[in-house]
Amino acid sequence: MDVKSVRDAFPILHQEVNGHPLVYLDSSATSQKPVQVIEKLDEYYRGYNSNVHRGVHTLGTKATDEYEGAREKVRQFINAQSTQEVIFTRGTTTAINTIASSYGRANLKPGDEIVITPMEHHSNIIPWQQVAKETGATLKYMPLQPNGTISLQDAEETITDQTKIVSIMHVSNVLGTINPVKELAAIAHKHEAVMVVDGAQSAPHMRIDVKDLDCDFYAFSGHKMCGPTGIGVLYGKRQLLNDMEPAEFGGEMIDFVNLYDSTWKELPWKFEGGTPIIGGAIGLGAAIDFLNDIGLEEIEKHEHELVDYAVEKMNQIDGLTIYGPEERAGLVTFNISDVHPHDVATVLDAEGIAVRAGHHCAQPLMRWLDVTATARASFYLYNTKEDIDRLVEGLQTTKEYFGDVF
Ligand code: PLP
Repeated sequence: MDVKSVRDAFPILHQEVNGHPLVYLDSSATSQKPVQVIEKLDEYYRGYNSNVHRGVHTLGTKATDEYEGAREKVRQFINAQSTQEVIFTRGTTTAINTIASSYGRANLKPGDEIVITPMEHHSNIIPWQQVAKETGATLKYMPLQPNGTISLQDAEETITDQTKIVSIMHVSNVLGTINPVKELAAIAHKHEAVMVVDGAQSAPHMRIDVKDLDCDFYAFSGHKMCGPTGIGVLYGKRQLLNDMEPAEFGGEMIDFVNLYDSTWKELPWKFEGGTPIIGGAIGLGAAIDFLNDIGLEEIEKHEHELVDYAVEKMNQIDGLTIYGPEERAGLVTFNISDVHPHDVATVLDAEGIAVRAGHHCAQPLMRWLDVTATARASFYLYNTKEDIDRLVEGLQTTKEYFGDVF
């Protein structure tokens, strides 16, 4: 992979922040956007902005073709069987909420169990807390190993015939753990439970094949994979989606509306009430083309090299603690001695280096780690070893600045 030409596609990276060339290490929060995506959005809004599925006019037809074309790109990207299984949502959060409120409400009763883990993002905790309260089902946590991984033996013990839903993140946005979701799906299915995968941190970084994973639902966000904000995907197996009620009601998702009752469109539109996220979906299609041109395997390999290099360098800094397992995705979560991570991020920002600090929308995991917050550097296809050298220099500066705590 030619990182120089990849970087050339990202205008935002070529600027100075606080008098230093920008080093962007916050792609787990949101990725930057290449010109291919920016231009595609520009082209849509300048050239054929129109509502979809409605007008017979030329612009409407073009917008519909592009919107539905983006759905086909997503289908291929995750190897779904059919475009009926690809629902556009606002992001991972909306996708998981749709599963919880539609599938969850209809299929859970007192005594049933929903299994998640303490490493989940709030978006994969709170929808289940809410649906558990509404239905009387029990929310059950699978334990974590001391290094922040899941053991299949624990999974075998936690998932039982009472389990109706298992919902687990593919890759942890804090620990970088890559969870064995294919094996977990097999265990869930032995007990006739459905497997939901939060793919927010995996779809942007590795080749996803929902057929191979055999998960029942898979959720991800466009903005973390070079696409625009406000667009995401809910994949679901056709039979399950067919049997589910829509989560939102209104225009676009109906077939016949009578005074007191209505019928729904077929999949996937019955889940896309209201004017859809047209520009977002078209932009996501362009992001998928961009990622495919580079190759997900190449991107994964590049990030692997970066994270190995980062861990090696950061481990040489006295007083620095890295959280998570050795085998990790492309991010490093850390603390330096007793310096608050917000202070770390502030000093780094003064050096032009953007990292995330806080609880990373994973408060239960922070308590499991016994910290209030951490700093996180996350990498993507446009990062380089030089970026990591700058991070390490910035961390040395942080140490000098807060010298008294060492
Ligand atoms: N799940 C994980 C693992 C995440 O990292 C995130 C975002 O940071 C989400 C879910 C929520 O994604 P979004 O805010 O795009 O809905």
